[in-house]
Amino acid sequence: MDVPSYILTDGHRIPAVGLGTYQIRGGQGIDQILTAIQDGYRLLDTSTNYDSEGIVGEAIRRSGIPRADFFVTTKLPGKYHHYEDALMMIQESLCRMGLDYFDLYLIHWPLPKRGLYVEAWKALVAAQKMGLIRSVGVSNFEPEHLDKIIEETGVTPAVNQIEIHPYWVQERMVQENKERGILTEAWSPLGRGSDALREEVIQTLAKKYEKEPAQIILRWHYQRGVLPIPKSRNLIHQRENLTIFDFELTQEEIKRINQLNRPDGRIDDQDPNEYEEFD
Ligand code: NAD
Repeated sequence: MDVPSYILTDGHRIPAVGLGTYQIRGGQGIDQILTAIQDGYRLLDTSTNYDSEGIVGEAIRRSGIPRADFFVTTKLPGKYHHYEDALMMIQESLCRMGLDYFDLYLIHWPLPKRGLYVEAWKALVAAQKMGLIRSVGVSNFEPEHLDKIIEETGVTPAVNQIEIHPYWVQERMVQENKERGILTEAWSPLGRGSDALREEVIQTLAKKYEKEPAQIILRWHYQRGVLPIPKSRNLIHQRENLTIFDFELTQEEIKRINQLNRPDGRIDDQDPNEYEEFD
């Protein structure tokens, strides 16, 4: 399946939809990732925190598809924000995945109360110079966190991966990223099993375009210039989630979906300024 791509500010190309792998694990997980790869997914999103780096690497090898065709993303856990720890963890993750570089490496959470994210960012920039990472990015960063790392290093993240779905639209944050030349990725783009798929406006649009509700939501992300990384273990859903490039929502329809936003729309109440990862 042909998937369009974006060009990041650092010049690297990234597919416009990826596969999330949170809670995809073990031997079964390898098979579930392999079906997605066979169906056309090349952007695979994992994290040290998901305990899936090993199986993602294994699925890539078993696929028989050249490494260079993939776009592999993983993320730095909070307990490794110190400079030396971060550099060590990047190398450890490469070994876990059996790779010699990452296409994209993100700081998973800023953890501003610990105040070490600038140090972590410097380690990512160093690892990029060492050839271990192609593109450096962040996740769950607010504008003040972005400005701080840019000011301290002169290096702008290529990507900021944040929570976005119809109940948490994040108009301001998408704009903040855009103004800095940062591509926004959406985590939990379908709302992680919430009622978003059953909302009337989504159902109505699905009927109108003869699409599934998930495809309406993923198309909404795409037309906002946001890159979604839906997670699915199931071939039918995986395929649906990649087949969003053959129809177009109107601006009015995009606005109607935006109106599903709620002030308390976050899934797990994970405010990046407050959220603390478990050690
Ligand atoms: P999601 O929004 O992708 O939803 C996943 C749920 O939707 C699953 O229950 C799945 O079965 C269902 N689903 C998938 N496709 C469907 C379809 N076509 N029709 C109906 N149901 C469908 O939620 P998620 O897994 O939380 O988020 C996606 C990815 O984002 C994760 O796997 C992970 O890689 C990443 N993530 C990152 C962070 C972060 O802090 N950076 C946090 C959470 C998740």
